[in-house]
Amino acid sequence: MRHIIPKTYREALEHLKSGSLHILAGGTDLMVQNRAWSETPVAFKKDTLYVYNLEELRYIEREGDMLHVGALASYDMLERHPDTPSALKRCIALLASPGLRRVATLAGNIGNASPAADGVLVLYALDARVVLDSADATREIPIEEAITGPGRTAFEDGEMIREIRIPLEDFDSERFKKVGGRKADAISKVSFLGAAAFDGDVIKDLRLALGAVNTTVVRRREIEAQYQGLTAADLKARSQEIREAYAPYVRPIDDQRSTATYRRQVALNLIEDYIHSL
Ligand SMILES: Cc1cc2nc3c(=O)[nH]c(=O)nc-3n(C[C@H](O)[C@H](O)[C@H](O)COP(=O)(O)OP(=O)(O)OC[C@H]3O[C@@H](n4cnc5c(N)ncnc54)[C@H](O)[C@@H]3O)c2cc1C
Repeated sequence: MRHIIPKTYREALEHLKSGSLHILAGGTDLMVQNRAWSETPVAFKKDTLYVYNLEELRYIEREGDMLHVGALASYDMLERHPDTPSALKRCIALLASPGLRRVATLAGNIGNASPAADGVLVLYALDARVVLDSADATREIPIEEAITGPGRTAFEDGEMIREIRIPLEDFDSERFKKVGGRKADAISKVSFLGAAAFDGDVIKDLRLALGAVNTTVVRRREIEAQYQGLTAADLKARSQEIREAYAPYVRPIDDQRSTATYRRQVALNLIEDYIHSL
């Protein structure tokens, strides 16, 4: 196995041209997935490109109403940055542990493409976009298009995430809920982000996203759109209907962390409960 440590981002992209390399950022998913016996080297199954030292990608910058998050900005940096959206800060406060948050990245959360990824859930709700570079081209895609299934992304061979773009919007109400086995270092059994903005008493923007209940994050813009323009009171009166609208998309699995029945019940309860809180 080759271990490649490029000195510049350009060099990293040139290496990626050569075939299918595994990109290692913070390594908090990759090291676990390739773990070996104690005191033996990590058992990588592919040649690995170590990008963690590329300072060029370690930035968070605000440009107007857009936050640009470099692929090597850690959660810790995001948590401390004044422009990081509050919903993302709430999520990061419950993500892994302080030590991991110093090295793990949002780009790695996307690249790992777990349906239970907490950062990805927030990115869906905030309409984030992903900028992908290869040695010869750049493209920008919505987060929904970046992840195609559990552990699967739409990245082409030779591409890597350079930056994540998060629109900065004000919400009057936000709720992030993570249901896990314990408060820290727990992968979500179910996760939820609800956000709403009002014009007076009228809802002008409603966002509801669920994690760990389908092959990718569940966010249904067509359902959200149906309820914009209603008052909070009207919305509450229709909470059961909203719950039923989401039910067909809530199709979790049984695994070592939880059962499908529990996940389904909790996910739909979280939606209904949030609607009642507005
Ligand atoms: C103890 C523990 C607790 C955890 N708790 C949580 C939790 O609460 N919530 C949660 O969501 N996750 C959790 N995780 C998972 C992990 O920490 C996150 O998914 C993290 O965001 C991964 O980032 P990383 O930089 O370490 O990724 P890495 O492990 O370096 O990479 C992960 C994947 O992304 C790809 N990748 C990385 N960077 C790029 C790039 N720039 N372009 C393209 N592909 C890229 C890699 O090739 C790999 O496939 C936990 C992990 C551990 C070990």
